[in-house]
Amino acid sequence: MLGRLLRPLIEFRDHLLEVSRYDPEQDLDRWREQLFTIIYPLALVVGLALCALTVHDAFAEGRFSPTLLAVAAYAVAMTVMALRRIPVRIRMGIGLMIFFSSVFYQSSPAVSYLSLFSLPPLIALLISFNAALSALGANALLFALLAYHFLRNDLSVLQFGVESLERWILYGIIFLFLDLIITLCFGLLTKGLAQIISLEREARRVLAEKEHRLEEAAARLADEARQREHMRETLSETERKAVFYISHDRLTNLPNRDAFAQRLGVEIMKARNRGQIFAAMAIGIDKFKHINSIYGTAGGDAILAGLAERLRGIVREQDVVGRFGDDRFMLLLSDIARVEDTLTIVQKVWEAVERPFQIVGEEVRISASIGLCFFPLDAKSPEELIKHAETAMFAVKEAGGGAHRFFDEKLNADMTERVTLERMLRDAVTHDEFVPYFQPKVDRYGYLLGMESLIRWNSSSGLILPNHFIPLAEQNGIIVDIGEQMLFRSCRQNRSWQDDGFVPKKVSVNLSPFEFRHPDLIRRIRDTIEKSGLDPMWLELEITESGIVRNEKDAIVKLTELHEMGVSLSIDDFGTGYSSLSKLKDYPIDTLKIDKAFIDNVPQDKRSVTIVISLIKLAHNLGFKVVAEGVERTEQLEFLVLHGCDQFQGYLFSKPLTAEEFESRLQRQVIMS
Ligand code: C2E
Ligand code: CA
Ligand code: CA
Repeated sequence: MLGRLLRPLIEFRDHLLEVSRYDPEQDLDRWREQLFTIIYPLALVVGLALCALTVHDAFAEGRFSPTLLAVAAYAVAMTVMALRRIPVRIRMGIGLMIFFSSVFYQSSPAVSYLSLFSLPPLIALLISFNAALSALGANALLFALLAYHFLRNDLSVLQFGVESLERWILYGIIFLFLDLIITLCFGLLTKGLAQIISLEREARRVLAEKEHRLEEAAARLADEARQREHMRETLSETERKAVFYISHDRLTNLPNRDAFAQRLGVEIMKARNRGQIFAAMAIGIDKFKHINSIYGTAGGDAILAGLAERLRGIVREQDVVGRFGDDRFMLLLSDIARVEDTLTIVQKVWEAVERPFQIVGEEVRISASIGLCFFPLDAKSPEELIKHAETAMFAVKEAGGGAHRFFDEKLNADMTERVTLERMLRDAVTHDEFVPYFQPKVDRYGYLLGMESLIRWNSSSGLILPNHFIPLAEQNGIIVDIGEQMLFRSCRQNRSWQDDGFVPKKVSVNLSPFEFRHPDLIRRIRDTIEKSGLDPMWLELEITESGIVRNEKDAIVKLTELHEMGVSLSIDDFGTGYSSLSKLKDYPIDTLKIDKAFIDNVPQDKRSVTIVISLIKLAHNLGFKVVAEGVERTEQLEFLVLHGCDQFQGYLFSKPLTAEEFESRLQRQVIMS
């Protein structure tokens, strides 16, 4: 109940708040309307209160029905006007009507009883106040005027009656006229204002629209630019593709002859600047036409693509694989340290070529001809390089294919020999063709102290000395297998001599620097010695100085391990390396072998004499035994004996001997007296 009563008040408060939020400039019509909606209820309340007073007095004076009628009419009019839903114009109209009626009412004789009203000025005041609110114009003046008279108590002007009728009509007409004009002006003003506002609003709208359009245009422009950029990209992509296909073979995606020649040109400049050499390798598939006729073009293509893939797989990143014509490829092998290094790549190419291809479920084997030439040795321009590599390749083809050759005749001979030798070396390992020869080591009296095992290759073409194959074996790693075989055979032989009852002697086995660096060295040596059955105390390993100085930390660990195994250690070719004697004192070494080069020149050459003497002295100071190798003449021996050398080895006593030959020396014990 109370809530229902309070609701209009709350609504009214909300309404006030709402009005306060309007910006008249932004929303003039709405502001005005809302303002009236607040004022009318106020007027209604005031008006009704006055009405109540009037009615009360009317009752008291017995003037009943006309008063009630007038008040009811007023109340209805006010209520209608207070309703928010009624449009402003209608409310203004009603306001005018009330004003006119008040004027007219006063003037009409029929209703002149209104003059009987005890408080007619108040009614007039009320009506004009009300009208003032409605029209906001001249009626405000009327209201002010009445209020003025009312306050001055000059009520004579407001006296109703026939005598004041003219004045009222005059007032009415004047006020009406003024009201019309002011209303008109106000209307015009508000209209103008509204127009200005709407103009501005329109201008803003147009501006916003234009801005929007501008934004749209900018977006469209950006979009277009993007599209154009995309188009350019796709265009350059196509261009790139076009260039790629012009310069590359479509089947294998490898550079074609022109592109390859270009790469050669670049490589030539690079190699020239850096003083490097590089190789061009032509590869031609043998009898490719046959393959094509048997397996069809598709089969041929599959082989070409497969081979291209394999070739790409074996070369390094800086190398280039190109395709030349139907059945030919070309490799650019950049930055080659030594000509013979290409042989490793040749080997890989062979593996790539000879591995069978799978064509429609069938294994297909192919062979190829390979030709090699080098920059700057064989050719100085891209064209020349290509030509010479192909010349070499065609020479192989003519000879039946399935081989490789170098453009340079001499190189070709060397390389061919090398390759043959390499193959032979591998065969020799499997066929156990390496045999140890033994060279005695004696003391100053010629008494046999031990023997050095020296390798000989018992090949089908005769006995081959180590300097003919050890360097190659070291280069391609075969030395590891050879060394193991030699170590085993030497130890085995020594053991068997011991088993046969000979006085035990130490056997010295040479260990190449390459073997020494092998990470698995210790295990391999231990296993080999064990397998041979020899007590490690009867084994000495000769390691060259260069083999040790290369990686000192690693060397000292290995030497220590070997020493702990019970193996003696000897530094071979001493004096030719770069190690200082003071450094050697840290190594668990037993013997130093002075290189033959120094021994050769004593005692005639002063320099050699000085070196040999100081070497012996220093070695002894450090606790090493000294062995002189390559002793050929008696005066050398005499000189060495004089300066305290401990052991001697050389042709003066004996050349390296076969095991059987050596056995007879073992029996005699004294090699030379
Ligand atoms: P090296 O270890 O300095 O061996 C001494 C070389 O001098 C041997 O040559 C030997 O025959 C030779 N020689 C000994 N006394 C005289 C002499 O009085 N006059 C002359 N002119 N030469 C003499 P060889 O047997 O041809 O061995 C050459 C090199 O091959 C060896 O030099 C050694 O470094 C290497 N070698 C030999 N056998 C093996 C082996 O089993 N494994 C390894 N890794 N290298 C070995
Ligand atoms: Ca040696
Ligand atoms: Ca030597």
